[in-house]
Amino acid sequence: MDEINKKIEYLRYLRDIGETEIPLSSSAEIGKTNAPNSTEGNIEMNEPNEEKKPTGSDLESVDRKRKILGEIVGEVSRCTKCQLHKSRTNPVSGAGNPSADIMFIGEAPGAEEDKQGIPFVGRAGKLLDKILAACELTRDDIYITNILKCRPPKNRDPLPAERTACMPYLLAQIDTIKPKVICCLGRIAAQSILQTKIPLGKLRGQVHRFRGTSLIVTYHPAAILRNENFKRPTWEDFKFLLKIVKEQKAKG
Ligand code: SF4
Repeated sequence: MDEINKKIEYLRYLRDIGETEIPLSSSAEIGKTNAPNSTEGNIEMNEPNEEKKPTGSDLESVDRKRKILGEIVGEVSRCTKCQLHKSRTNPVSGAGNPSADIMFIGEAPGAEEDKQGIPFVGRAGKLLDKILAACELTRDDIYITNILKCRPPKNRDPLPAERTACMPYLLAQIDTIKPKVICCLGRIAAQSILQTKIPLGKLRGQVHRFRGTSLIVTYHPAAILRNENFKRPTWEDFKFLLKIVKEQKAKG
């Protein structure tokens, strides 16, 4: 029964991310897993939305977090700590739930994000929304940001000096939101945060620690748009993510 449920979950995920046909490789692989420490058994996909009613002090805490995150937005908008401030149209600080259990961290804003000042609104962002929907999550359930708050010209990789200059804003966001789990989207985010050169493939499927918080790694949605072979492992990573969130919530 577990195997059947896994297949159904995966088919639902493929449908949610816009697949109209099952690729031959996927149909052969349905039900298998390739994440090293991937989940055993099934994930209750609606777990993250099963929130208890907020108390008065919860609401105060959310207001306080929202205020601090607003101050970070202000600081980022005035920031000239690296050269990227000269070429940006809009800084992109971050968006989402100030008390999110899951915080996603990508690399840097792209063209559309730079235009709108909102993270993950281009094609990759739309794919991320679909993956979230397959997990019964919306943007209101999560917080999302990037290593860099300003777009590098022509979407080049962030330079070490730019990462160093921008990192305090990300650390302040993590310390304010205090997510249960951080999920790095892509190699640049993962390697920058974990300060490692280990390839993304080897960082996936395990729980890392950063600032006292569990951290997992998956592909950037832009990478999935370039290579559809990443769809299946990404699904495994998201199931793994939900499992870790559930475990962290159970610990309190
Ligand atoms: S990328 Fe970060 S450090 Fe550089 S100008 Fe923008 S906000 Fe400041």
